[in-house]
Amino acid sequence: MTRAREAFVEALRSAGLRATAPRLAVLAALRRQPHADTDTVIRHARSELGTVSTQAVYNVLAALVEVGLVRRIEPAGSAALYELRVGDNHHHVVCRNCGAVGDVDCAAGRRPCLTPSEAHGYLLDEAEVTYWGICPACQSESRLTRLPGPLDEVEIHCNYPVEGGRP
Ligand SMILES: [Zn+2]
Ligand SMILES: [Zn+2]
Repeated sequence: MTRAREAFVEALRSAGLRATAPRLAVLAALRRQPHADTDTVIRHARSELGTVSTQAVYNVLAALVEVGLVRRIEPAGSAALYELRVGDNHHHVVCRNCGAVGDVDCAAGRRPCLTPSEAHGYLLDEAEVTYWGICPACQSESRLTRLPGPLDEVEIHCNYPVEGGRP
């Protein structure tokens, strides 16, 4: 068993879930490709398991999100995306052109990260920020005529839908 697989087994057990093959395959898929959509997770899971139903993968993702092992994000206009990086209040940068998604560390290092100009008396616990722009790959394509200013302050990883390896 690889170390990553051992860690997944341990994480599932700590969360009170049995380490079933579909759960391990979904976790492995998200390790390979952070911010994957459901179709991508299904493709990876099938390549590992042979057959697994779409509904089974949906159920696994829902269970993993529920216990906090997987984070679900849903940028406007995008399908739901899943990742293993949880609990650190990180934000995302999304390409308007190709949908690439990258992680941006929490600006303040703790929740809620940003202080709103008006809290309306709410006790705030989270600010979920999406930075929208054009990724480097799309910037270099000349057919884009209207480019916003470069996002100098944030680290950009264009890791979707490129396969294999972490950015
Ligand atoms: Zn792009
Ligand atoms: Zn992320």
